[in-house]
Amino acid sequence: MSLSEIKSRITAAETAAGRAAGSVELIAVSKVQPNERVEAVLKEGHRVFGENKVQEAAGKWPGFREQYDGIKLHLIGPLQTNKARQAMELADVIHAVDRPKLANTLARLAQEMGHCPDLFIQVNTGAEEQKAGVLPSDADGFIKECRDLDLPVQGLMCIPPVDEEPSLHFALLAKIAARNGLSGLSMGMSSDFETAIALGATHVRVGSAIFGARDYSA
Ligand SMILES: *Cc1c(COP(=O)(O)O)cnc(C)c1O
Repeated sequence: MSLSEIKSRITAAETAAGRAAGSVELIAVSKVQPNERVEAVLKEGHRVFGENKVQEAAGKWPGFREQYDGIKLHLIGPLQTNKARQAMELADVIHAVDRPKLANTLARLAQEMGHCPDLFIQVNTGAEEQKAGVLPSDADGFIKECRDLDLPVQGLMCIPPVDEEPSLHFALLAKIAARNGLSGLSMGMSSDFETAIALGATHVRVGSAIFGARDYSA
């Protein structure tokens, strides 16, 4: 598939859901992709990208930022506190705030640095052992904790369990966001972004459908 096909599918999904065209931000997830593929998408004019590892993002994006104006980088993977400073220097948006220790570190660094990226709180909607994110039952409390720290929380993010119907998870995330007065919803990937848009996604994170399959052996 191509960038333009994904964009038209997003527009169609927005229309079908009775939402304004352009209300959903497409994050092109470039992790593991060779630089040529990423550059091809930059040359098509796209500027919003996602990476899940700080180290990999640090090796790729400062160089692209020198060549292309207006890049917006989203860090969508779990974040270790010892990488928080580097993440805040690199990224415009961080999607996986999921525990008090990280929230406290981000707040302290924001004071010190005088700025903070926009933040999403990751919710582990499937309560999966191996997955990052605050449990649904702890979400309201954690959102309040982040707000009390003056963190710029824009919304919530989730990654549904692979073997479950994603719409249930998207609906749960939307419900938690609504009752906390949060407007941002980062949900939906290559296989389910249209479903996510129908359920209110404001940010979809699409990788392989744009760039092709990731080659982890390279
Ligand atoms: C890799 C990744 C994506 C993109 O996945 P695709 O299935 O390739 O679209 C989205 N969100 C997160 C958090 C990811 O790590």
